[in-house]
Amino acid sequence: MDSGHLRQLDATHIWHPCTQQKDHEVLPPIPIERGEGSYLIDIEGRRYIDAVSSWWVNLFGHNHPRLNLALKAQLGKVAHHIFAGFTHEPGIELGHRLTKLAPAGLSKVFYTDNGSSAVEAALKMSFQFWQQSGYPHKTKFLSLTEAYHGETIGALSVGGCDLYRRVYKPLLQEGYQVQGPDCYRCPFGLHRDSCQAQCFAHLEQTVQRHHDSIAGIIVEPLIQAAAGMRIYPAVYLKKLRDICDRYRIHYIADEIAVGFGRTGKMFANNHADVSPDLLCLSKGITGGYMPLAVVMTTDAIYEAFYGDYQELKAFLHSHSYTGNPLACALAVEVLNIFEQEDILATLPERMQTLSYRAGEFEALPHVGEFRQLGMVAAVEMVEEKNNKSPYPWQARMGLEVYRRALDRGVILRPLGNIIYFMPPLTTPKGVLDEILDVAYECVTEVTGQ
Ligand SMILES: *Cc1c(COP(=O)(O)O)cnc(C)c1O
Repeated sequence: MDSGHLRQLDATHIWHPCTQQKDHEVLPPIPIERGEGSYLIDIEGRRYIDAVSSWWVNLFGHNHPRLNLALKAQLGKVAHHIFAGFTHEPGIELGHRLTKLAPAGLSKVFYTDNGSSAVEAALKMSFQFWQQSGYPHKTKFLSLTEAYHGETIGALSVGGCDLYRRVYKPLLQEGYQVQGPDCYRCPFGLHRDSCQAQCFAHLEQTVQRHHDSIAGIIVEPLIQAAAGMRIYPAVYLKKLRDICDRYRIHYIADEIAVGFGRTGKMFANNHADVSPDLLCLSKGITGGYMPLAVVMTTDAIYEAFYGDYQELKAFLHSHSYTGNPLACALAVEVLNIFEQEDILATLPERMQTLSYRAGEFEALPHVGEFRQLGMVAAVEMVEEKNNKSPYPWQARMGLEVYRRALDRGVILRPLGNIIYFMPPLTTPKGVLDEILDVAYECVTEVTGQ
């Protein structure tokens, strides 16, 4: 099909995710034909640097020879089979290796097939654990403002991004939501590199008052990604682990976006040297090839579900594509690549490339902050720099930057007024420089400098 025909059929039939479809009248979706390392290539041969890892999933670039081979090898055996009553080597090997790699104590692995469904499973596990462990009043979850945990009803219930949940509010489960860290606009006037997470007091007060009814606390460790790559210090997680222990509450870590090296360490919790009770992983787990997710948990939680069938304690939760062997085989190869190519050791140099122009960005009159952790960085555009007032959302400043960057061959999908970089971990230095050059030009143009 030629490009015109494809675009016409897309406009007629396809409802794209997280999109006001009317925007397509001026900016239609671009038909991609193939990928090549850092690049996506459209059917007319135009190349775009994928600076957002295709919505935070791609780890090692597109069309990766080793991942392609791993997928083909598994495809020659079996593409999918039922995972209840049956099991398979890629799923077993992946589970085993994840338990070696993850923060200590996470010895059990439950498969689901996307991030939101992993969050749902973790919430249900936590809830059911307390039902079966003599604490039936622990039925609620505590979450943070601006949190993002996915779009299904349960995941949205613990979300804090008003944009995604406002209309669905009558459908959502009640819980406790507390003010999360907001380091750029810190209400205590502190800095994330030197503070002691004084903002933890918000959470602490709510826990002290309501711990009897709290099953778990769910957070995105160190980076509230969908909120605009809001980065906060590791000491917050230490305090969180501590308070969860003190009040018998599960710490549920949603590392769906930040796991697998994004923060410079394998998992964000490694920065704080703490282990959650439940850990959700997805996105990068297959290198960005296929949907797969896991919930990892402890022996203690697992054992509360273990018993004779008649006790009715089992975790009766499943998805049709649970533990898909193709996805598991890819994930095993992702771990092989991490190990054999020593990916984590290659990151510091790239992290430096990503951040060395921070000062230049922050010198722009409408850039409030350039923040970075590991291989994630963000530029927050503000209308007034001295009082940090945001541009009105209706101005769609981020979208303007996006359009201009696209013309220059870089994909910089914004989050409101925030332009962020979350490139594949293997993005070459020259490509990182190009991303930053284009971002700098576009931000300068759009903010009128
Ligand atoms: C993307 C994301 C999810 C949801 O994952 P999906 O696969 O899109 O359902 C949940 N939590 C976080 C932190 C995410 O970034």
